This record gives sequence, structure tokens and C-alpha cells, in this order.
Amino acid sequence: MHDPNCLFCKIVEGKIPSHKVYEDDEIFGFRDIHPWAPVHFLLVPKAHVASLAQVDESHAAMLGRMLAVAPKLALQEGARPYPEGGFRVVVNTGDDGGQEVHHLHVHVIGGPRPWLKG
Ligand code: 5GP
Ligand code: ZN
Repeated sequence: MHDPNCLFCKIVEGKIPSHKVYEDDEIFGFRDIHPWAPVHFLLVPKAHVASLAQVDESHAAMLGRMLAVAPKLALQEGARPYPEGGFRVVVNTGDDGGQEVHHLHVHVIGGPRPWLKG
């Protein structure tokens, strides 16, 4: 279930501290340590899955739940309500996809962008 050498497994287990934004029986959410925007958190399955390339239909409910909880968490983390507010959802997958931590994670990135006009 957990990979002892995996950074995000250690975060899920509480062996490495993180700022938790969400937890249920199969998902853990925490702020990214190097945020790209005012809102930036990660949603990960508690059970180790290396990347989106490893998922199959048995993971469909977990993947759906990650997307389903993202909007309310984005609001809690400081995103403005839709449609003015917003966020991006990114799943980097594999080396060519820019994935650095090999435990599946969904980036939720957004919040106010005061450097943009209007
Ligand atoms: P990737 O490039 O694999 O899609 O994204 C990995 C993300 O994990 C990066 O945005 C990085 O800042 C974040 N990250 C790496 N190490 C840690 C850590 O120890 N704690 C937290 N909260 N985030 C981390
Ligand atoms: Zn892991």
C-alpha cells in the first residue's frame, strides 16, 4: 500500500510534515511546498500509485473523487468563486510529462492573479 521510499507516501503517513487541506479514506490533500500561484495544493491517493500511466478502471472512483473535491478546496484555499475565480488541474505524468515525484498527484493551481490586468 505504501512505498517506504516514496516522498508522498511518507507525507500521507505523516512521516514528513505537510499542510493538510483534505483527507478521506482514500485521498490526501496538502499544499505544494513550492507554490506556482496563490492557491496550489496536491491531491494524492493514499495507496501508492506511481503515476496516471498506472491507473486502470479500478481507480476510476478515486480519480473522480479527486476532481469532485477540488472546487470546494480551491475556494477554501483562496480561489474566488466561479466564473471570476478559477484554477487549473494538472497531472504531470512520466518524465516527458514533467513528473518529478512518482506517486500520482493532481495539482490544483489558481487563485487571484493580481499581475494580470482586468
Ligand atoms: P510534479 O513535478 O511531480 O508534478 O510535482 C511535484 C510537486 O511536489 C512539485 O510541485 C513540488 O513542489 C512538490 N513537492 C516536492 N516535495 C514536496 C514536499 O516535501 N512537500 C510538499 N508539500 N510538496 C512537495
Ligand atoms: Zn507513494
